[in-house]
Amino acid sequence: MSTAAKARPRAKKKAARRSRLPRIDIAAQIRVLKRLYPGARTALDYQTPFQLLVATILSAQCTDERVNMVTPGLFRRWRGPRDFAEAETQELEEAIRSTGFFRSKTKSLQAMSRDLVEKHRGEVPSSMEELVRLRGVGRKTANVVLGNAFGIAEGVVVDTHVTRLSKRLGLSSHSDPVKIELDLMEKVPKRDWTLFSHLLILHGRAVCQARKPHCAECAVAPLCPKTGVAAPIRAAARPFVRVE
Ligand code: SF4
Repeated sequence: MSTAAKARPRAKKKAARRSRLPRIDIAAQIRVLKRLYPGARTALDYQTPFQLLVATILSAQCTDERVNMVTPGLFRRWRGPRDFAEAETQELEEAIRSTGFFRSKTKSLQAMSRDLVEKHRGEVPSSMEELVRLRGVGRKTANVVLGNAFGIAEGVVVDTHVTRLSKRLGLSSHSDPVKIELDLMEKVPKRDWTLFSHLLILHGRAVCQARKPHCAECAVAPLCPKTGVAAPIRAAARPFVRVE
């Protein structure tokens, strides 16, 4: 079979998937979210790209609030990549213990810091290609650092909130973060890529929560297909229970 013939079913599949998605006015969704969350930014505190890189690694499976409680003391004790690379492993583990998964996070922090010292003269690189080559740094972490510390939009940060809201808002039918990111990069204007994930994260925390989305009070509701959100049980549909 020719390459063109092989590509046809794939293109058909993609078109069919697209046609199953509801028509969405993403520009209007973004407008409403921007009005709801003016000044949206990352909740992680940092002063340098390196500090943001460290804070983002610590934020895996941990709240930003907890990370912000840990990082001031951490950066007073170990200031830059060289200090982290040469730190006593057990001391570093103890310092970040409360963020969870402290052993593997310590390994990532020290390996990443060694890479910075050995390959980048202790500086955090500002390209996706170089960032994802650092040990312990994946595409999501690289996107956070590029978008927030360097103001470079290379992609969209996809975390659990972005994953959930992208589906509910009808922006992606995928559950794989890489595919969700591709869908969002196709639909969201590039100038809004960094901001968009902050908006979804804030809306996911405040209104469109995982277990209980507050659709009745949601300003985006008229623009949202609420994909996958269970319909509220209406009084008539509730099972009849006789009270003796
Ligand atoms: S309408 Fe419901 S599902 Fe849609 S964004 Fe608002 S809370 Fe989430």
